[in-house]
Amino acid sequence: MWYSDKAPTIVRKYSKSILRYFKVGSHLGLTINPYQGCHHRCGYCYATYKWSPDFYDKIYGKINAPEILESELNKLKNTSILPVMISSATDAYQYAEAKFGITKRCIEVLQQYQIPFYVFTKSSLIERDLELFRNYNDNCFIVWSITTIDEKIKRIIEPGTPPTSRVFDTIRKFIDSGIRCCINIDPIVPFITDGEEHIGSIVDNCQQLGLRCISGSVLRLRHDIWIRIREILELFGISWAIREYERIYGFQEPFHHENNLSANRTYTDKVINNLKDEISKTNISFGFNQLIEQITQLRQAYAISLKQCKISEYV
Ligand code: SF4
Repeated sequence: MWYSDKAPTIVRKYSKSILRYFKVGSHLGLTINPYQGCHHRCGYCYATYKWSPDFYDKIYGKINAPEILESELNKLKNTSILPVMISSATDAYQYAEAKFGITKRCIEVLQQYQIPFYVFTKSSLIERDLELFRNYNDNCFIVWSITTIDEKIKRIIEPGTPPTSRVFDTIRKFIDSGIRCCINIDPIVPFITDGEEHIGSIVDNCQQLGLRCISGSVLRLRHDIWIRIREILELFGISWAIREYERIYGFQEPFHHENNLSANRTYTDKVINNLKDEISKTNISFGFNQLIEQITQLRQAYAISLKQCKISEYV
């Protein structure tokens, strides 16, 4: 069950490796996940791939991750490295980070080895490490995942996350400190957060913050995600939307897909074109590939050949 007001159990874990390759579409990159599990409890979470109820309730802190990372980087000396994404299958700044500080120590290692990186988060706890990012702002950027500014919706679809207004305060501090920031409206959840006004209000807030770029994409469905989304639709009192999901995702219940299923082209184009239209009214650009390219160009000394590493993780 994704929804609960119980605090998660936080436990230590020792990992054998930490630096992994991931692939999204044609994009290949490196990632580190300092934690396993996530107490942000997003109903749409893609990281519950090997679904277990423990994902939201039992958080493992990979306590030796910084030492493993250092040893892996040492083995890759004199090669070049793709920018590292922190993180692909957890939130590196969830509550457990306040207790363990594993993400902070990993970032210190990346900086020591002059590795470019970017952080994906929904959290305001990242503010604790503002100075760390400020001192490295040519070589990193932060992507905040924001799906809604409506707190009533947020408390249901991602109950463990901080209020969006609090996250916007944090983003402002990062922008004022000269750190490159982006907002990723991901996922846009059909019939809950896909309205034109809904998207428009997020873009308006981003413009007021002085953000450089916004990205976004429509929810993909998998059998475990559908179980939670179906329940969310019922909680919002819009059970009629279940039939609409069947239509736009092209399935009939029971839903068995184990791979992520995209919404049809007509629906996706409508939603993404609306987002792009809203962005076009501002001086913000769509997507964050240019930020990845900027930090990639800065690093020449490390080069990991893709042949050297097995692609072991897909998100
Ligand atoms: S913050 Fe990310 S990893 Fe954590 S529950 Fe939400 S979507 Fe999943």
